[in-house]
Amino acid sequence: MTSNKTDRRNIACLHRKRRTLSQRLGACKELVKGSLIVNRRRCGKPRCRCQEGQLHESYAFTFKKSGRSVLIHVPKWLEAEARQAQRDYRKLRALVDELSAVNVALLRNKARRSKTRRR
Ligand SMILES: [Zn+2]
Repeated sequence: MTSNKTDRRNIACLHRKRRTLSQRLGACKELVKGSLIVNRRRCGKPRCRCQEGQLHESYAFTFKKSGRSVLIHVPKWLEAEARQAQRDYRKLRALVDELSAVNVALLRNKARRSKTRRR
């Protein structure tokens, strides 16, 4: 009986965890599957700061589309948004792994219970 009670408590805990994870998944809506890259270059003007090592930076987002790499320029003012998009995607992937583990535990539990029920 006690193990049954523990089982039920564990299952309730897993369901709670699943609810929380799915809510967090929904919060990753700004995701972009890709990478933000920073290009650093010299402009070629003779008296520019870049000649002394302070290179000009520009940002781009790369992602795959139909197997091909696509690159879009990201203006400086959109850098934070692009970083957030990248973070959201990584977060989503980690959440999917966590959610999958919870669902595996629930499946395993259901399978075990159905086995004991048939005995
Ligand atoms: Zn320059």
